[in-house]
Amino acid sequence: MTAPTLSLVIPIYNEAETIPELGRRLKALLKRLKEPTEVILVNDGSHDDSLPLLVDLNRRDPRFKVVNLSRNFGHQLAITAGMDLASGEAVIVMDADLQDPPEVVTQLVRRWREGYQIVHAVRRERRGETWFKRWTAHLFYRFLQSMANVDLIADAGDFRLIDRQALEALRSLRESNRYVRGMVSWLGFRQTTVEYVREERFAGTTKYPLRKMLRFATDALISFSNVPLRFALNIGFVFAALSFLGGLLAIGLKLAGAFTIPGWVSIVVGVTFVGGVQLFILGVMGEYLGRIYEQVKARPLYIVSDLHGSFDTLLSVPRAVVTPPAGAPAPIHDRAR
Ligand code: UDP
Ligand code: MG
Repeated sequence: MTAPTLSLVIPIYNEAETIPELGRRLKALLKRLKEPTEVILVNDGSHDDSLPLLVDLNRRDPRFKVVNLSRNFGHQLAITAGMDLASGEAVIVMDADLQDPPEVVTQLVRRWREGYQIVHAVRRERRGETWFKRWTAHLFYRFLQSMANVDLIADAGDFRLIDRQALEALRSLRESNRYVRGMVSWLGFRQTTVEYVREERFAGTTKYPLRKMLRFATDALISFSNVPLRFALNIGFVFAALSFLGGLLAIGLKLAGAFTIPGWVSIVVGVTFVGGVQLFILGVMGEYLGRIYEQVKARPLYIVSDLHGSFDTLLSVPRAVVTPPAGAPAPIHDRAR
């Protein structure tokens, strides 16, 4: 097989119900694309029948390749693994549940051919998602944009095309808590967007329950903004000013002779309120500290337990453990960073 021009990277976590249809839609897409294309399916520790179904796809068609992670590392690390192992001139990341219609890929490729290096697919409309998800996502993207220190694109998920040059730059960012879409925006290069309608999930339920969504949102905020830290400083300043004014007021009242019964309520309320604020600020510090700890430990970002298909870019993947296919020499892991 000649070196592929395009690589499609698809993270998969318990998507057995969708995989047969995904395979069909992708084959139709591959037929339509003029460029030689590989499909990198990253199994993120599924505990249903996803893996055998994926391996079967590879057996029938070697353009489908499978990266099997040793456990569930989460969506962002699954797409990181896929991008690390892709060898195309342009890499396209998309979800497995067909919410990102494979047909949009041709539009992304067209923009790339026009000379753009990063093409984001932006959701013009979302179908079949709860109003709660749509509404929180809408608000969150705007909130994050106002806080972040890079230009983030609202309503863009991880469905996008990245060319080789930008991808190599992205591969050099090995931070532990990854908000990949923010990291891509941070890269710069010639970026553009393509609009699409986000379809309903083909089968199964979301793999992003509220708990994971909150964690993801915190990672995003903390990776791309120092505003929460500055918030602690500001609130401290406000409280210092307030207590100073309060002191002045008390002196004024005393001098005017209006000072009557000393109220314990105001004291208790004041003390508990300030205590609450301090705990909150400690919590904010803790969030940053925890991430610093993760980063300093410098564990591998993900561990590949096996590969199915021919991967020719097993050069060096920093901060990851990639076991080579059977018969190949020693495992490739480079913990230099
Ligand atoms: N996914 C993954 N690991 C996870 C959670 C999700 O690889 O821990 C994959 C999932 O199989 C899907 C994509 O990430 O291909 C997006 O997940 P999902 O569709 O559940 O998220 P939503 O579209 O509801 O935000
Ligand atoms: Mg989905």
